[in-house]
Order: sequence, then C-alpha cells, then structure tokens
Amino acid sequence: MSFFRSGVRSGVFNRFRFAGRRSLFFNAAASSTQLVGSSSMPHIVPSLIPYIMALLLASANDNENCDDMEHIVASPPLEVYSRQTPNAGMAVKASRDIRRGELLISEHPLLIWQEGMSKTDLRQWTDQLTPSARKALFSLSQRSDALAIEAEDKDNVDETARIRSANGFELELPAIPLPFNGRLPPQPSYASFLFANISRINHSCLPSCGHAMDWSRLRLEVFAMRDIQQGEDISIEYIPQLITLPSQERKDKLKSTFGFDCACALCSSSPDVLQQSDKRREQLKVSSRSLFGAGLNRQQMIGEMERIRTILSDEGYNVLPEFEQENVSKAYAMFVQMRGNYIKDGEDR
Ligand SMILES: [Zn+2]
Repeated sequence: MSFFRSGVRSGVFNRFRFAGRRSLFFNAAASSTQLVGSSSMPHIVPSLIPYIMALLLASANDNENCDDMEHIVASPPLEVYSRQTPNAGMAVKASRDIRRGELLISEHPLLIWQEGMSKTDLRQWTDQLTPSARKALFSLSQRSDALAIEAEDKDNVDETARIRSANGFELELPAIPLPFNGRLPPQPSYASFLFANISRINHSCLPSCGHAMDWSRLRLEVFAMRDIQQGEDISIEYIPQLITLPSQERKDKLKSTFGFDCACALCSSSPDVLQQSDKRREQLKVSSRSLFGAGLNRQQMIGEMERIRTILSDEGYNVLPEFEQENVSKAYAMFVQMRGNYIKDGEDR
C-alpha cells in the first residue's frame, strides 16, 4: 500500500494543532480496554456536511478494494491501557508484533467541526451527540493546564471544549476536483477532527508511526514506520516541523499548544544525547533550507537529499519529516519513495 496517497500526506498537517495527549483524568479503574467501535457515522457540524459529501463523491472511484482493510477496521492490533508513573495516563500499545509498513488502524472521525464556531454553536452541536458517541468523547482526556483554563470562562467551563482541545486534529482539507463547470460554495480550508481511538495515541519526537488521512474513505490511517514489538507503546508526532527544532523549542511548542511537558524517549534522554540530537536537527534545518534556495543542480539536490536521509537515520527518525517548506517535504517524500524502489525490503533499516 502506498504511503503517498495523492494530496494526503504533505502539507495536510501544516496546521495540525490539536491531538491526543496523556490524560490527567483517565479512568484509573480501567487498566486495559478494548478500542471503541468506530464504524458509525461521524457527528459533523451542518455547515461542513455538503463539503464532506462532495469530497466523498469526488473520490468515490478511488476506493480500491483492500482485503486487509476490513480486518484492520474491525480489529486493530492495538490496546488502550493506563500507563503507570512516571508518565501516567492512557496510552496505546501494540497487542502483537507489528512489521514496518503495516496499517495499524483506519478510523472514521467521531467529530468533525470548524474552528471559529461560536462557543454556543459548538455546545449546542455537541449536546446532540448520540449516547454512544458521548460516551466515547467523555472517555478521552481533558486539557487542564492554566492556559486552557485562562482561555475559558471559569464559571462556565465547557468540558467538551477541553476534550476537543486536547484530542483534536486540525487538518487541511483537499480541494474537490469538480468534473463539470460548476461551483461549490467557498470551500473551507481546514476542519477539526476527533477520533475515539487514534486521539489516544501519544506523541513522541521520535514516533514509531506515521499517519495520513485517506479522504476517499474519510478515515485517518496510522502506519508503523518501523518494526514494533508486542506491548510497545504506539506513538505519532502531533505537530509538524518539530524535526528541525532543538529539544527546548519542541517542548515549548508542545506545551503551549497542548499543555503537556513532552516526556518522550528523546526528550527524557541525557543532556549529551539531547545535544547530539539538537545538532542533527540544526543540520536538517540548514540542509532543507539549502534545497529550497535556488542554484542547486540535480546532482547537488540528490546529494543534499542523501545527506538529509543519513541525518534522519542517525537520529532514529523513521517518519517522513515535515520541513518549513512544503515543497521540500514533498520533494523529500518523492525522493524516499523513488529510492525505495531500488532498495530491497529489509536492506534499509
Ligand atoms: Zn519529545
């Protein structure tokens, strides 16, 4: 299966602002739970329904049959559990050994809404959730840090707003190619999505998995980017462009966006290791910027791509990076894919 569904990967997460985080309010009694069923229709704000319908119609022909898909949808090889200290909270772990490239979960959103909606509209809209959707929503973590509380009316705290803030994904919407000379109402550029299960996956600055929206199915998919052992935590990266940021800047950004202190394996490593990592990330910034600048011939560009690939590999970063410049991210993704065509499976780990 291709990792590069057209129009999906690069740029999609440019403003990927909100995502799942460790819960401070997790249900301590539930030490291990089954994933929530995710095949029901998403709860969508009315203003987005025509757009989502048009999007699905426009991509209906792209729906290829995939035998593995239904199986993965029905029973993803994942398990939600309550992690103990030091990083207490809900987390998702692999329920069996997983091979690099495997699709781990393909999930419909639970909620789809637009940023900028008034508090009243959002509240009325979430009041209309079905009981099962409400149950899934309220089993997710709530953002509780001072920033979030300051931003709210303290006497009138909206718990669903805190859940959305802690667990939502803001995704760039693809343009709908119309096959006729027609016009849709102005298309929204972004919408926010919340997933009952994927929102529980924790962040890591060296994530084990990548994720991309399959717009033709309206499903977010999570892929293993390296082999993962049974019982190992599953992680994704919440914010793009962390790859070129040193540890302190990453921490600051994650803290201000989601309200948590990153305690991923990289961020909690020794000062020496962090220093080496910061240096590599600085080199990545320089290399990606030089690609963006004019004046490189094809040979030099390939050399620069190779340099980026080596640094990423030294860093232990297996996911496709999002650089500051969308073009560079796309070009690098293509480079990796083309290069992959000449490398036998298993040779490049
Ligand atoms: Zn981190």
